[in-house]
Amino acid sequence: MEIPKEQKLYCKKCNAHTLHKLKQFKPGKARAMAWGTRENERKHKSGYGGKAEFTATVKKQTKEPTFVIECTVCGRKSYKNIQKRMKKAELVAKS
Ligand SMILES: [Zn+2]
Repeated sequence: MEIPKEQKLYCKKCNAHTLHKLKQFKPGKARAMAWGTRENERKHKSGYGGKAEFTATVKKQTKEPTFVIECTVCGRKSYKNIQKRMKKAELVAKS
C-alpha cells in the first residue's frame, strides 16, 4: 500500500493540524538485561524443553505499519500506526 510521505495531521503542541513528515519506524535492539527479556529466556530455556506458553506456531504474514511523524512547524515527534494489516507500506511523495 502506498502512503503519502507528508500528511496534514494534528499536533498536540501547536494544537492545530499541521504538515507532518512520515518516517518508517524501526524498533531498537532489545536490552539483554531487561526484566522482560530475562523472563522470556527463563520461560523458553529452562527445564527439559517441552512447550512454552505463547509461542506462535504460525507467524502472521502481515504487519500493521508504524511511522514516526514529525511536525514541520515545531519539530515535535510522535508515532502513528495504521490500523490495517498490510504486507508492504511504501512512503510515496504526494504529487
Ligand atoms: Zn507542531
